[in-house]
Order: sequence, then structure tokens, then C-alpha cells
Amino acid sequence: MADCLFCAIVAGEIPATTVLETDRILAFRDINPQAPTHVLVISKEHYPDVAALAAADSGLLGELVTGAHRVAVDEGVSDTGYRLVFNTGAQAGQTVPHVHGHVLGGRSFRWPPG
Ligand code: AMP
Ligand code: ZN
Repeated sequence: MADCLFCAIVAGEIPATTVLETDRILAFRDINPQAPTHVLVISKEHYPDVAALAAADSGLLGELVTGAHRVAVDEGVSDTGYRLVFNTGAQAGQTVPHVHGHVLGGRSFRWPPG
């Protein structure tokens, strides 16, 4: 999609530090990490948020979540625990309208979230 930051990363027009790539998903380090591990997992195809992806292609959603767990394993945070967060909509703090799961790990997290 034109004027989409994460589509531009998929296209290689904006650099990113990739940690996992398949034919349908891409995982790269967040530019402003909030934890020792902070990786974004996206579908290469553009969907505005996780709800749109779930409605359109539940198989791809499954690949994205499986990829997120793979990243957690590869980063060494799966045993201690990690968060997988899909901010969805303005009030949740979503700033980039291209579906992305945040894989956060390497420290303790509070609940409820801020
Ligand atoms: P959200 O606020 O849930 O939409 O998350 C968007 C995330 O994208 C934020 O954590 C940003 O730090 C991250 N971000 C923005 N631009 C880039 C970029 N060029 N490369 C990597 N991460 C980015
Ligand atoms: Zn996009």
C-alpha cells in the first residue's frame, strides 16, 4: 500500500534489522525498543490491524503468531516469558496502520499495562 511505513520496509525501501523472514511474514527490531527484546512481526501483505487480518486470512494470522513465538525462542526469552501485543486502534496506541505484533521480552512486565 502506498504511504505505508511497514509496506516500505517489506519492499526494502526503508532499512530494518530483520530477524525472521518467510514468504508471508517479516520480523524486525523495533526502532525504539521498550525491552531488551522488542521485535515487530508483520504480514508482508498489507492489513490495517489484527482484526482485519483475522477476518481476511486466519491462516496468515496463525503464521504471524507462530513466527512471533519463533522469534521469542530465537531471542532466548520464551522460557522466562514474553508479551505478544497487537495494539489495535487509536485508544490502544496503534500508530502504524499495518498489522504488527510486538514481541517483548528480557525483563518483567507489569499488569495491568499502562
Ligand atoms: P504501534 O504504536 O503499536 O503502532 O507500534 C508501532 C511501532 O513501530 C513502535 O513501537 C515504533 O517504535 C515502531 N517503528 C516505527 N518506525 C519504525 C521503523 N522504521 N523501524 C522499526 N520500527 C519502527
Ligand atoms: Zn502496509
